[in-house]
Amino acid sequence: MVPRALLALAAWLTLVASFLAPNLQAAPPPNIILITLDTTRADRMGFLGSKSGLTPNLDLLAAQSTIFTRAYSHVPLTTASHATIFTGTYPQFNGVNDFGKPLRADLPYLPDLLHQHGYQTAAFVGSLVLDPIGGTAPGFDRGFDTYNAGFRIRRSGEDRYHTLERRGADVVAHALEWLKGRPRQPFFLWVHVMAPHPPYRPSPPYFGRFVKAEEPARDAVNFSRAFQLYDAGKQPSIDRWRLRYDEWIAQDDGAFGAFLSRLESTGTLGSTAIIVSADHGESFEGGIWGHGSREQLRQIVRVPLIIRLPGQTEGRRIDVAADHTAIASTIMELAGVSRPQWMDGESLLSVSQGYPEPARQRVAFTQYLETSSVFEPVHRGTVGVINGTHQYVIDLESGKGALYELADANVQDNDLASKEPGIAAAMRELILARFPELRRAAA
Ligand SMILES: [Zn+2]
Repeated sequence: MVPRALLALAAWLTLVASFLAPNLQAAPPPNIILITLDTTRADRMGFLGSKSGLTPNLDLLAAQSTIFTRAYSHVPLTTASHATIFTGTYPQFNGVNDFGKPLRADLPYLPDLLHQHGYQTAAFVGSLVLDPIGGTAPGFDRGFDTYNAGFRIRRSGEDRYHTLERRGADVVAHALEWLKGRPRQPFFLWVHVMAPHPPYRPSPPYFGRFVKAEEPARDAVNFSRAFQLYDAGKQPSIDRWRLRYDEWIAQDDGAFGAFLSRLESTGTLGSTAIIVSADHGESFEGGIWGHGSREQLRQIVRVPLIIRLPGQTEGRRIDVAADHTAIASTIMELAGVSRPQWMDGESLLSVSQGYPEPARQRVAFTQYLETSSVFEPVHRGTVGVINGTHQYVIDLESGKGALYELADANVQDNDLASKEPGIAAAMRELILARFPELRRAAA
């Protein structure tokens, strides 16, 4: 016979369970849309202080989102940057530090993990550099039900935007077509907008908005490279290219606006989280043009990052430093999938929801390493760390470090390492503790 006390306990537990049941029943996982804007500087965004009026649509979303004012690209190269975003790991772990390095099949990969947890997954990319077949991103299609790419090398006389890449509006149109087909819920959709990349050629009515002449002089910029140094005398030409770049930022914002209004009119926004970032920025200043360089310039490493949770209407600004490794962890937490131990980044979900950060300070790591995998020793390149106030960069060839204040826009000239040795040493140690394999190279 069952003792009366035990029966009472069982009844009480049943009662408690019935009260808890509705809470224990988790909300269905949300749809998640990740938009990566290529080569998009943070300081061109209205929501990050630009007065040029380039981004009214992104500003609209940002007003109902959490804006991360100190977000940084970890690697300033398109393919490597996206490998970091999708694996939540640094190139030392994932091995993708350059174009064409395959994303290993044994590497845990966000789209694959979401797919395994019931997500329908789709990618719409804007360039050959993210094409897994015939492009420079082998393995990037793993876990995607749909991977819309299909680029190829341009033959003479062919249009760039129908071979090597396509414009933002074109990519967005394909993504909207896919959404129209009512994908199974929940879905994960990645939209990559390949602009404003050299040769900075926006279409009308954006072309000519800031620079009326047909083309600025080509003497200052060699478009066959992603990065080059230029003389101060060429700054006026470079400034005109920057304005052309701005025109294209405005064009991308227009494409984003069309995408956003469709999500709104179909009611998709209420059940969908949207994350917008850029793979890296672009420099037009200080004798350095482009991206993909060892110089850890703020205009190259700083990127926009906004997170809008399903149904969010309140805007927030968060000043904690974060790099691209945080995106995968955040998406995993949003999807209700536990964060794998191998992910380097920490989720930004609770801080996005307005919960205070723990006392410990977050930092962002940046790097440009000429060899950087677990199998190869690192010899050349730079690695940096950014906290709430400073940026510190180690040059691995000389072992020397430079310290810059974040408030100082002129980062190349004002090295504070000898004036502030305590801060410099502490930040150097942050880098070497995070990447112990660099200790020898930095010594
Ligand atoms: Zn890029």
